[in-house]
Amino acid sequence: MIFAFFFILGSIWGSFSNVCIFRLPQDKGVVLDRSFCPKCKSVIRWFDNIPIVSFLFLKRKCRNCEYKIDFQYFIVELLSAITFCVIYYVYGLSVTTLLLIILSIFFIIIFFIDLKHFIIPNELSFPLMFIGFVKSFYPNLNLDIFPNLINSLVGGIVGYVIIWIIIFLFEKIRKKEGMGLGDAKLLSAIGFWFGWVSVPIIIFFSSFIGLLYVLPSLINKTKNLSTSIPFGPYLIIGTVVYITFGNQIKLLLFNN
Ligand SMILES: [Zn+2]
Repeated sequence: MIFAFFFILGSIWGSFSNVCIFRLPQDKGVVLDRSFCPKCKSVIRWFDNIPIVSFLFLKRKCRNCEYKIDFQYFIVELLSAITFCVIYYVYGLSVTTLLLIILSIFFIIIFFIDLKHFIIPNELSFPLMFIGFVKSFYPNLNLDIFPNLINSLVGGIVGYVIIWIIIFLFEKIRKKEGMGLGDAKLLSAIGFWFGWVSVPIIIFFSSFIGLLYVLPSLINKTKNLSTSIPFGPYLIIGTVVYITFGNQIKLLLFNN
């Protein structure tokens, strides 16, 4: 029963995330007005706007015209629903679950915006930094995955400065931009959330996964090393890996 609740809750938040992914990069602001079909402009009625279900039932099509709805809508809704369930499964009904659910909503929105538009809006990174820092004041915080106040603060600074240095060196050596300050703000937020120790580990994972992903196209010469790729999605995947295996990694590294 509770799993069904988290699944439905996740799909509804996924549906909201889709609105943010669509509207935030266009600076339209997120208003919850009626949804329209982008092609024929007909209003999508509530029973055609049920997360996950409607997409499958209408077979990706607008009821009025033959417009094919972007597969991304379905993926985001399903991903949110599954993520909510997994977090609940691991952490039960707790503050940790609440925090990780909030983080996952931000991550999913940032992931798809950066993937499509190569930007990470400040409207997302600033609140994420703020929540990551403020949560450290909660007295019963789960210190198995979250850092204490000082560690969180240092993490936020280290995260920003590291990317800033990388950008600076890149500009000196290659005379071009490799990463943007959006990545710096995202890694700063991650530092606030998981502390300074997490920062180098997450950079390592992200770069490794990113390299694995671009390697085939580098070999095929469809891309070269100066093709810009959005780094935000890799930082997010790296962080998910860190949340999942972080404690084992720290045991390996520090052996205590
Ligand atoms: Zn239509």
